[in-house]
Amino acid sequence: MNQAANSILKPSAAGALIIDGKAASEALLARLAEETRRLGAAGVKPGLSVVLVGDDPASQVYVRAKGKAARELGFRSEQHDLVAATSEEDLLALVQRLNADPGVHGILVQLPLPKHIQSARILEAIAPEKDVDGFHPINVGLAAIGEMKRALIPCTPAGAMILIQKTFAALGENLAGKEAVVIGRSNIVGKPVARLLLAANSTVTVAHSRTRDLSAVAQRADLLIAAVGQPELVRGDWIKPGAVVIDVGVNRVPGEGLNDRGQPKTRLVGDVAFAEASARAAAITPVPGGVGPMTIAMLMANTLVAACRWRGLEEPKF
Ligand code: NAD
Repeated sequence: MNQAANSILKPSAAGALIIDGKAASEALLARLAEETRRLGAAGVKPGLSVVLVGDDPASQVYVRAKGKAARELGFRSEQHDLVAATSEEDLLALVQRLNADPGVHGILVQLPLPKHIQSARILEAIAPEKDVDGFHPINVGLAAIGEMKRALIPCTPAGAMILIQKTFAALGENLAGKEAVVIGRSNIVGKPVARLLLAANSTVTVAHSRTRDLSAVAQRADLLIAAVGQPELVRGDWIKPGAVVIDVGVNRVPGEGLNDRGQPKTRLVGDVAFAEASARAAAITPVPGGVGPMTIAMLMANTLVAACRWRGLEEPKF
């Protein structure tokens, strides 16, 4: 096993090595802090602008976390809070202002947007080179034709890909020619992950809610990625012995007992039955603590990359 790349893999009693997304994200953030200092010396301060429309509590938590990470790295960080009744035209006008602002290299409009606003219209108004979520059709298209150096890649798939590459390197294996099965075909996770794996020369199958005999398809996988949103859908006997398993799912399910406020406790589980799968997999991401922590770190990476490209500076590879 390659020791240098090995630091994110932790042994466990369950059998499989645990892919530690928290350690990987901390290492990435440390790299980003270094790169930010390097850019600072060249007179560039990466700028991230996050737009929140309405008062959805989950979105507020995500947006706060993004702003905090940006400030901690020394980015210029700004947040635009708009009331839920904001018109589509006013939101478009703000996006245009941010597109024109030379101090803003990354623009993120937090989803979901209120129902009266067409998300596609807003996302397509963001300048592709500032689209740090990677959802603009130009960025999707660049990724689809394999132009990864020009595209901005969605953060969760890009973060999952770093974990996959580090895991394969640590196991002394190569993704080229490996059977990869992605369960889920959303534009946010499933499809972009499949495109990245194809670019890495894996043989990729995308399975979804209409796939027949899903467990048999999953059992072909040397690398299984679950991005479904169904608690513990993937059972232990779906896992080919020795496979690498990446669980993107985050599902809240009832826990045991009551919390401090006397309400029933809840807990987070992935799309994979972790204990069962750990008995067969070579390596597996936990939930929480796997793919999740990589998402915000990749948003910061995309913002820094956007700043480098804007200034024509060499961009770091993550
Ligand atoms: P989505 O609902 O948009 O897509 C789910 C996909 O799963 C669909 O393509 C559907 O065809 C497929 N699917 C549904 N039921 C299925 C079944 N029974 N068998 C096979 N396929 C089935 O969800 P999404 O946005 O792609 O998110 C997927 C999961 O990843 C969710 O749990 C979400 O919370 C999580 N997620 C995590 C992060 C993160 O860690 N930062 C980011 C994004 C999404």
